[in-house]
Amino acid sequence: MRIGLLGGTFNPIHNGHLQIAEEVQKKLSLDRLLFIPSGDPPHKKREQIPSAEHRLEMTRLALFPYPHFEVCDIEVKRPGKSYSIQTVTELKRLYPSEKLFFIIGTDAFFDLPTWREAERLLTLCDFAILSRPGHPFSRLPDLPLLRSIDRNALMELDRGGESVYTFRIGPEASLHFIRIAPIAVSASEIRKRLKKREETKNLLPESVSSYIIKNKLYQEDKDF
Ligand code: ATP
Repeated sequence: MRIGLLGGTFNPIHNGHLQIAEEVQKKLSLDRLLFIPSGDPPHKKREQIPSAEHRLEMTRLALFPYPHFEVCDIEVKRPGKSYSIQTVTELKRLYPSEKLFFIIGTDAFFDLPTWREAERLLTLCDFAILSRPGHPFSRLPDLPLLRSIDRNALMELDRGGESVYTFRIGPEASLHFIRIAPIAVSASEIRKRLKKREETKNLLPESVSSYIIKNKLYQEDKDF
């Protein structure tokens, strides 16, 4: 089986996440896709965010119509900060004979050098790196393991030529750089709109909008 792992703060989960999941599921013929909301995200610690339980519940609601998408609470349940290296190691133990794909947008991929054991993480399973507007593939993070990547191939992807470039990074792992149709949706933009009580139709699943209203999340008088 081929299993995709899509980690995120999901603050809140939005239609962009669902769209990238559908694209990557098709492109990599994934059998299942796990959405993994972070517990206490090390990279967003100064930002006040709704509890992990709220973000987990919104994710669960959003995935309800998709039979191949599942929510995974592994990071929410783990005490302390959420590190991807721990998550992937645990999931490899849980699914020893499946092929795992760590799914990540180019914006998050560029932050990789700040992640715990980034280079080891890159060799633990395959990576699917998805284009995100404003973050071209050719601006690669500065890690020794990535030095022999073919920059021309990445520039070609940025120009809209090919749609996938695969780079073998170790005996067990490859990086798949995948150009998808641009999706101009971000959680930060949605939070701003929610604070100002602006329209979020087409940006959020209906069930998530209702949950946000019912639980009074992302209101003007709060920091999030
Ligand atoms: P924020 O605006 O708060 O940074 P976000 O919209 O990036 O939030 P996250 O939960 O941080 O949402 O994202 C989870 C993963 O989904 C990350 O790997 C991110 O790069 C990817 N992702 C989110 N939105 C898009 C998008 N529109 N296009 C491509 N990748 C995306």
